[in-house]
Amino acid sequence: MTDDGDLTDRPGDQAVLDRAGLDQLIAVLLQEGYQVIGPTVRDSAIVLDTLESGDQLPAGWGVETAPGRYQLRKRSDSAVFGHSAGPQSWKQYLHPPRRQLWSEGQDGTYRLPPTPETKYAFLGVRGCDLAAIRVLKRVLSAGGPSTTRPFESLFIVAANCTEPGGVCFCASMNTGPAVGTGFDLCLTEQIDEDGHRFVAEVGTTEGARVLTLVNRRRATDAEIVEAELAVSDAANHMGREMPNVDLRAMLREARDADVWEDVASRCLTCGNCTMVCPTCFCTTTEDVSDLAGDNAERWQHWSSCFDLDYSQLHGGTVRVSGESRYRQWISHKLGTWYDQFGSSGCVGCGRCIDWCPVGIDITAEAARLTGALDLEPDLGERR
Ligand code: SF4
Ligand code: SF4
Repeated sequence: MTDDGDLTDRPGDQAVLDRAGLDQLIAVLLQEGYQVIGPTVRDSAIVLDTLESGDQLPAGWGVETAPGRYQLRKRSDSAVFGHSAGPQSWKQYLHPPRRQLWSEGQDGTYRLPPTPETKYAFLGVRGCDLAAIRVLKRVLSAGGPSTTRPFESLFIVAANCTEPGGVCFCASMNTGPAVGTGFDLCLTEQIDEDGHRFVAEVGTTEGARVLTLVNRRRATDAEIVEAELAVSDAANHMGREMPNVDLRAMLREARDADVWEDVASRCLTCGNCTMVCPTCFCTTTEDVSDLAGDNAERWQHWSSCFDLDYSQLHGGTVRVSGESRYRQWISHKLGTWYDQFGSSGCVGCGRCIDWCPVGIDITAEAARLTGALDLEPDLGERR
């Protein structure tokens, strides 16, 4: 491949990288001072971790997913983005599972922790997860600059999805398989008789600047069309779909449905679904001090609406039953999130389905609730 500085200098331009070009992109991002986060194989799963080189990418690995099931599988090719969502999401870097809010010494000096300076580059962000990043940014912006700072210096290399997994339903949530807005670069991976390549679309001027530092060539019209077709075809192969009704109205109507009791009989209230969800943002705080009493600290950590204590008010817990806690979770996710933040809280990634130990499926429960209510199809756009 040859470098041509005129090829990709504007948002919307498209170029082609080969496999070595992808490795070079990672190297360039590292040189530019980014901490590169991307998929890699560890602990029998494809997880997100810091990448030092393209050798760590999960080349040749895919996954099989189903309710309550996630399993690595060897692919017949060397695709690096040939897998659907894993147990983690990008949330862990933008909204850390645990962070110190402040500390105080014996002399009463109140200290804030140092501001994290890390500049992240996320590699391989799917349409559903990019939508989740947009949702999370909107939600956390209510907490002020300290909660949204990691978003400001973020460089996103998105990856269009051409092989949805068994629990994916992004197409019915309008978040994929094509990546939406908010990326710096977007890759579509293709492997055929012409080789292994990535059609790269420029999303921002920073994306264009970075891409000009990588060996690439002009994308042909045929390559661009082929990539677009592969992505649009993926919408026909979703493992699942969300019912096409006004979910907000449906959940309001379904408050007293029998379905809640049935789902509660299976739900363990373990909270896995909220931990793996890329948009669930609930936290709690705890105060700790050393034994000598010289230092006290306040920490924030992820919490879950499935925890019994989560709805604790003076006088007791409001949501005591599993039934009320599952109803709260799904009603917020698919319904009242619109009232609060102007969009759905679910992006259709499917993580809560495969990582639920008893295989409870949010699309199946929404379909059962819809079926119990006899609703008209929703012709509006779901966001
Ligand atoms: S729905 Fe599944 S993952 Fe969520 S709390 Fe219940 S058992 Fe756990
Ligand atoms: S509710 Fe489930 S499918 Fe929807 S975004 Fe969260 S984890 Fe993904």
